[in-house]
Amino acid sequence: MSARKPSDPILPGATIGVLGGGQLGRMFAMAARRLGYRVHTLAPEHDTPTGQISDVEVVASYDDLDAVRAFAQQVDVVTFEFENVSTAAATAAEAFAFVRPNGQALHVAQHRFREKTFLVQHGLPVSPFAPVRSPEELAHAVSAVGTPAVLKTATLGYDGKGQAAVSDLESAEVAWTAMKRQDAVLEKFVNLDREVSVIGARSVSGEFSWFGPIENAHANHILDVSVAPAGLHERLAKESVEITRQVMEALDYVGILCIEFFVTQDGRLLVNELAPRPHNSGHLTFDACRTSQFEQQLRAICALPLGSPELLQPAAMANLLGDIWNDGEPNWTAALSFPLVKLHLYGKASARPGRKMGHLTALAPTKDEALTNVIHARDALRRR
Ligand code: AMP
Repeated sequence: MSARKPSDPILPGATIGVLGGGQLGRMFAMAARRLGYRVHTLAPEHDTPTGQISDVEVVASYDDLDAVRAFAQQVDVVTFEFENVSTAAATAAEAFAFVRPNGQALHVAQHRFREKTFLVQHGLPVSPFAPVRSPEELAHAVSAVGTPAVLKTATLGYDGKGQAAVSDLESAEVAWTAMKRQDAVLEKFVNLDREVSVIGARSVSGEFSWFGPIENAHANHILDVSVAPAGLHERLAKESVEITRQVMEALDYVGILCIEFFVTQDGRLLVNELAPRPHNSGHLTFDACRTSQFEQQLRAICALPLGSPELLQPAAMANLLGDIWNDGEPNWTAALSFPLVKLHLYGKASARPGRKMGHLTALAPTKDEALTNVIHARDALRRR
């Protein structure tokens, strides 16, 4: 590594390494290239959404530590768009480049039991939970947590994958067997009023900034629509930001971290999970905020001042899943006939049901209008 100190800014012209090849890295790379940085990406596939925008695309497994070391030698700072990179890979990269966020933050966020334990240790609110690593722990968890509950795999769960609703010990056993009895967490079912997220940014100097809270609606456990600003009581909005700040400080976090929250029907905020990277609910920041979550990630990891996260107008984002391709190519012209709606596509060659292919963002004087417009534009994609 060069003799650069951690607090020295990494200036335009430098090279950023992104571990991961998806749409989050793609939008990050767009922001980085706009500011005159070079981008290298490493992912196991070729021609990835990030790779298409990068100067250099390395095709390698995240577990190929020699490849990760060689990758890190070519860049000034390494960041992530995919959190399930091993601590060993983060440590390997650290020998040659700054790694932001640090491997410890990834270690906490990529395992549900560790994550919840960390939150409880810091006095932060979560739904009651218990670990499940043996039949005895499963039985104990069902009686300690109570039902209804949700059984979730400890690792590699996203978009509702690796989750099952549980109503008693018998259904818990069936669900755990279906998960091949891997380590899991049983979590009390929450009677939801709504779900919101806050996307925090923290720079090398400790400067903190945030987007949100943003309100999120899911369909089939996958984020469907996000709206900003969220319709949330002022007190809860402040609390959600304060929790985000606390988590980032406790992890000495540099970069972007999203916290997904449950708002309970009795008016409490619970942390659902942490995402140590930009987040789908923050895609609307690309069009609706003075600085996007992706540019903010760049500024944070490059030890630069953070930009203004100001929301320019109420906004709504609708995901485009592969299902929209079921009857053939979507009707792009019809969606683009909404002049206030922006279309983003991720360059993925094949559309599968549930696969995130792109999104639409609408800005409007009110969030209700933004939501109506983005839904109408999405419906228009199916018009023949
Ligand atoms: P997760 O992958 O943990 O973010 O869960 C995906 C979605 O499932 C969440 O956004 C919620 O809509 C729902 N969900 C997960 N856990 C619970 C819970 N304990 N109570 C109620 N709904 C939940």
